[in-house]
Amino acid sequence: MIQHITVKRSDTIRDAMRRLDASAAGILLLVQDDGLFERTVTDGDLRRLLLQGHELGAFLSELPKTASFTLKENEYTKADALALMNAKTVNHVPIIDSAGNAVGLLSRKDVDEYVLLSTPHMGDAEREFVEEAFRTNWIAPLGPNVDAFERELADWVGIRHAAAVSSGTAAIHLALRLLDVGQGDIVFCSALTFVATANPIVYQGAEPVFIDSDPDSWNMSPVALESALKQARASGRLPKAVIIVNLYGQSADMDPLLSLCDQYGVPVIEDAAESLGATYKQRASGTFGRIGIFSFNGNKIITTSGGGMLVSDDESLVKKARFLATQAREPVPHYEHQTVGYNYRMSNLLAGVGRGQLKVLSDRVSARRQVFERYREALADLPAIEWMPEPAWSLSNRWLTTGTVQSRYTDVSALEFIKRLAAELIEARPVWKPMQLQPVFSGCRYFCHENESVSARLFETGFCLPSGSNMTERQQCRVIEAVRKILA
Ligand SMILES: *Cc1c(COP(=O)(O)O)cnc(C)c1O
Repeated sequence: MIQHITVKRSDTIRDAMRRLDASAAGILLLVQDDGLFERTVTDGDLRRLLLQGHELGAFLSELPKTASFTLKENEYTKADALALMNAKTVNHVPIIDSAGNAVGLLSRKDVDEYVLLSTPHMGDAEREFVEEAFRTNWIAPLGPNVDAFERELADWVGIRHAAAVSSGTAAIHLALRLLDVGQGDIVFCSALTFVATANPIVYQGAEPVFIDSDPDSWNMSPVALESALKQARASGRLPKAVIIVNLYGQSADMDPLLSLCDQYGVPVIEDAAESLGATYKQRASGTFGRIGIFSFNGNKIITTSGGGMLVSDDESLVKKARFLATQAREPVPHYEHQTVGYNYRMSNLLAGVGRGQLKVLSDRVSARRQVFERYREALADLPAIEWMPEPAWSLSNRWLTTGTVQSRYTDVSALEFIKRLAAELIEARPVWKPMQLQPVFSGCRYFCHENESVSARLFETGFCLPSGSNMTERQQCRVIEAVRKILA
């Protein structure tokens, strides 16, 4: 593989120039007769020989002896190689084996590409909608793109009404306000989630109580929810709402969860920030609660750079959400306010991006599912990995390819695994740290699944791999190779 860029001191300058000309590498490796690596030879080295008065037919024995830095085969990470190239301001580093023989040449292009977890992926139409907003000077919050985005998203998921807002977090906050959650109230909330689910409970002065995951879906455990509801009834303090999260693009097991909440008369907020495009028993995720919310943050399956949506079949709730999100201004000519509101509406520019993104949502779901399938197939022989399960009732959007490291088969912990992937310039992440383990929520009550804290175990052992719908095949192969190197 490096034969064509290898030269010896018995070769002439002309030989070397021909080699250089024929190869795309831009650099040659000078080796001794026994194959031991000696130094690199560049265009500049050859030019200097000519300027010193040597003929094209002169031998490379004229080259001065100099030590080139090298990397030892199998003993470096991509991050090491990149650091070396940056420190020495070079674009190539020869690879040698333990005996000192040249066995390869690493180029900057092989090591300077970070594979990221999940990056924005624009379609073709976003720009047109945004340009339309510029053309008509609809830059301010609200405008035709906002109205259209709300209608189009509601149609896409099959719900009656939607309100576009500035973030998923804002949508959750509004949902709590709509359900009249306030000081001293209790709100049940999935334990295994991003902190944005739980923070708005505290904004409202209410008390979060965290409910563990089910091992089969990683989402809220009906068993844990039932014991929490039973205890709440016994103590005479039922929650004002239950926030059910659909993690990593997969719906929670809605039937048993909703039937419990119905039985106790507690309304459900569905946090579908990560599960837009997924289904539960063929119905769109996000449409099961009294109120559902979506997020269009930069790393989500579709993005408006930042934004969210509150959805419901109840028109009065969505109307009230729009009202609260625009400073709760009463519909009278002067500025009249009877309640405290927020500045939470989405801008007409960003709604334009959202409309374009919605057109490619199905493509994005299939692309992410394909990324997962490729990982699953290529790594099927590694018992140390168990993927996030997808129950028969679920069609996940596989927002992030997520799994757990099985300690029965490897000594590598999930955190170590993630650290080693970072050394290969691959961005992996741990699974969300559950809320009951967060210092900010210390002292909050927590109900675990049967006798095990499933969310704590998933946090200990879980990882997320790069999953963007715009990942190239080469990037996916790099991830697969690196995972294999670490866990095989
Ligand atoms: C991203 C996310 C949110 C918050 O959405 P933002 O638009 O970033 O405010 C809420 N809940 C979950 C589960 C999320 O992943």
